[in-house]
Amino acid sequence: MPSRLRVGIVGGGLSGLAAAYYLTRANAAEGLDLEITLLEKASRLGGVVRSRRVGEFLLEDGPEAFVSYKPAAQELVNELGLGADLLGSRDDRRKVYVLDREGLVPLPEGMVFLAPVRRRAFWSTASLSPAGKVRALLEPWVPRSQMDTSVRKFFHRRLGREFTRRVAEPLVSAIYGGNIRHLSMESALPLLYRLEQNQGSLRKGFLRRPLKSSSQSLPLFLALRKGMQQLTDALWKRLGGTQIRTGVSGLRLTPVAGGRYLLKGSGFEGVQDVVILSTPAPAASGLLAGLTSEGSSPLGRVPYTSTRIVYLAYRRSEFSHPLNGFGFVASEGSDTVLDACTWVSSKFDERCPPDSVLLRCAVHDGRRRRAAMSEDESVARTHRELERILKISCSPTLSYVWDHGPVMPQPVVGHARRIEGIRATLNRFPGVYLTGAFIGGVGIPDCIETSRKVAEEVVDRARKRMYGD
Ligand SMILES: Cc1cc2nc3c(=O)[nH]c(=O)nc-3n(C[C@H](O)[C@H](O)[C@H](O)COP(=O)(O)OP(=O)(O)OC[C@H]3O[C@@H](n4cnc5c(N)ncnc54)[C@H](O)[C@@H]3O)c2cc1C
Repeated sequence: MPSRLRVGIVGGGLSGLAAAYYLTRANAAEGLDLEITLLEKASRLGGVVRSRRVGEFLLEDGPEAFVSYKPAAQELVNELGLGADLLGSRDDRRKVYVLDREGLVPLPEGMVFLAPVRRRAFWSTASLSPAGKVRALLEPWVPRSQMDTSVRKFFHRRLGREFTRRVAEPLVSAIYGGNIRHLSMESALPLLYRLEQNQGSLRKGFLRRPLKSSSQSLPLFLALRKGMQQLTDALWKRLGGTQIRTGVSGLRLTPVAGGRYLLKGSGFEGVQDVVILSTPAPAASGLLAGLTSEGSSPLGRVPYTSTRIVYLAYRRSEFSHPLNGFGFVASEGSDTVLDACTWVSSKFDERCPPDSVLLRCAVHDGRRRRAAMSEDESVARTHRELERILKISCSPTLSYVWDHGPVMPQPVVGHARRIEGIRATLNRFPGVYLTGAFIGGVGIPDCIETSRKVAEEVVDRARKRMYGD
């Protein structure tokens, strides 16, 4: 039996690059005779991760940071030798506001990730009515549910309607660019879902197992000094021996003799023993159609929402708002086009010159259909909204817009069962794997962890091929 294992990875975003990196690393360490090819449709690698320098400003088209309490990303950053370039959030300014009809209201104190944990601090908040606070504090006595529900139903049941409307809805909608009426609790917020399942209560769960970063001293969010693209750039630079093809279009996947697979498109044709699909779900569905409609069709039904990022900078001397916090998320009841606004120059140092303030607004189409707006209109409208919300009267000195199109997967109720079903179907096609933001979570640490696990499975396969079972 030949020992060489040909591995084709389709999709060169963070997930595909991480899978390729972990395979390359194992190959070098163990001499597994892997022949890895990474195929990307676009002319560049990195997917939604892209950083730009505009003068002294550092702008991110995609992710701006990652959370430190999920270790996968920080570990990878250190392994890639980028540890010295980690840039922590300014947690001394760690206040987040919710935009309501009345204006900006701070998120309640005493919470750990959407759960009131420290009761005294939570009770002191003016953001919720006394009845809303009492209802939320009754959370530990609410019986657990046995099944996946929407995020909205989960929060209504466990923490009450006011908490859902004023806290959970704006925050979760901002993370997913989606609608909590449809998002699955099990897949969108698996940590909280499991706390209910295993501990019977979010509060009890967090008291037993507090959220901790791998080092207690780490700030809540970590970014990279030269931008998040440093991570994807460092990954592809470490893929020595991997064939990288960009600009590959019209790829099709078909089975061939010997349990292998043909990947064929314009710019590439090759037979693979292993295929890792790390594209968004619709593209993975198209590729799987050549193998199985049973696996392909449910993937094609994973919904995606579009996101537009609008950066605005202002002269600090003219900006009257103190920007004392990380920014705000807009509640469903607010009448703005912007869904969230990060006060970048408060959350991180080194993102803009000291005489400026930098704001990053996200406009999603998950909750309300965004009117078709030109980029100029987006800038004008977002600026007008900020004028009203922050009571400022100066003009932006810089504006920048990036339109992502449908890139944010929406794990809707039943998502986990659908993914299990697809995986079961793929068992009939040994060597075909899925990774990506729609599988194990959209966050950067989640994508890295999902790809690391897939790479481990492939490495096991390579070992068995080389040394026998
Ligand atoms: C605006 C925005 C802000 C975000 N902010 C944060 C944040 O602050 N923190 C955080 O942790 N996460 C954040 N995320 C989420 C995180 O960045 C993404 O979930 C993650 O980068 C997705 O990586 P991916 O490789 O799975 O997908 P993608 O980046 O979408 O990559 C998929 C790749 O597949 C390629 N492809 C598609 N079809 C084909 C085909 N047929 N053949 C070959 N290639 C194909 C695409 O061109 C693309 O390069 C954000 C996401 C967005 C969009």
